[in-house]
Amino acid sequence: MSNTQTKPILQKHLSTANDAGSENSVTLSVLQADITTLNVDAIVNAANSSLLGGGGVDGAIHRAAGPELLEYCRNLNGCATGEAKISPAFNLPSQYVIHTLGPVWHGGNDNEAALLASCYRNSLDLAVENDVSSIAFPAISTGVYGYPLEQATEVAIDTVEAYVQSCLENATNFSIREIIFCCFSATDAAVYKQLLELH
Ligand code: ADP
Repeated sequence: MSNTQTKPILQKHLSTANDAGSENSVTLSVLQADITTLNVDAIVNAANSSLLGGGGVDGAIHRAAGPELLEYCRNLNGCATGEAKISPAFNLPSQYVIHTLGPVWHGGNDNEAALLASCYRNSLDLAVENDVSSIAFPAISTGVYGYPLEQATEVAIDTVEAYVQSCLENATNFSIREIIFCCFSATDAAVYKQLLELH
């Protein structure tokens, strides 16, 4: 995050002392920014099932990464809801793009929350497998896919915090040190700030 101009709206530190007595910690941040500008190891893309680009954050990521991203994604064979795939980030300042397919909101009784939680967990699994230290998430599913922002934010924060706590306590090779919730609008950032403070 060294070259990023944007200041976090809120930061929260999760930490656990390990058996050796040293402390591991992970910072969760809320930022209002265009995710394509962030100088982090990995940004997450709220992609569509083809992984061949679309509107919203997906379109912005493909435009900023350049046509090589589309060429690379042609070989990823799409993505199922709740799953994630990784690619290089080409012209973006980050190293990787982790593409995940969020659920479309159908009223809340169609397994949406579990699928959205899977997006966060599977993205974090890929980040750890690739030794990523800093990662930024957009508000997956809350744009065109229609997931109500507060409910999606609860899932995002719950899932990420539980994942981090479990890894800090149990995982030997946990690379992640910073997780950013990257909100495009000030309204979205205010919701993330309020809910992260309450957790
Ligand atoms: P989905 O189809 O998963 O709903 P969208 O791209 O429509 O995905 O929206 C997801 C979120 O990404 C929305 O909150 C939207 O405001 C946000 N968004 C759009 N462009 C950007 C961007 N450049 N950087 C960060 N967030 C963005």
